[in-house]
Amino acid sequence: MRIIKGHTYEHRKGGLYVVIDDGLLESDGTEVVIYRAVSDQQVWVRPIVEFADGRFKEVTDDPWPRATLPDYDALNQRYVREDGAVTLSGRPPEKPDEPGAPAPIEPETGMHKDYWVLSKEELAKGFVRPVRTSYKHSGCGHITTMARTIAETYARNPKFYGMTFCVNCKEHLPVEEFYWTVDGKLVGS
Ligand SMILES: [Zn+2]
Repeated sequence: MRIIKGHTYEHRKGGLYVVIDDGLLESDGTEVVIYRAVSDQQVWVRPIVEFADGRFKEVTDDPWPRATLPDYDALNQRYVREDGAVTLSGRPPEKPDEPGAPAPIEPETGMHKDYWVLSKEELAKGFVRPVRTSYKHSGCGHITTMARTIAETYARNPKFYGMTFCVNCKEHLPVEEFYWTVDGKLVGS
């Protein structure tokens, strides 16, 4: 079983966890996995041999390129759309005047090269929904975990996106086809 930082795993009793890192137990050098519960953000530690013994199963590859996650300080210095949106990557949009995403879809992944998100200032105004990072596609049953800023954008403005990405279907589909794994609520509501 592969254990990858940033990837999401489901426990056989339910519950989703994101692997943060690996480490060594100081007292005896046991290799451990450090991981965070998606539901309440509690951080847990357990030996790698336990983690890999079949009780966890990887539910998704995190499709969001980590290298492009925004530097929050940079968010205020970049192109800002009329409604306060900025780009996830921090790069200027390729097509600022077109609706939809700021960059085209990459055929290999089915994802846009970039996404609109709300700016740090807009997010600081407060969330009207909990920050939920994973949703399940009702069509195929697969779970997709989002970049943090996209999750926060949903929490600030649940109607910001009309379509969202399924990592299994490799396409953007109406938000009504997805529900949050934590509480079963419809995405976009
Ligand atoms: Zn799907």
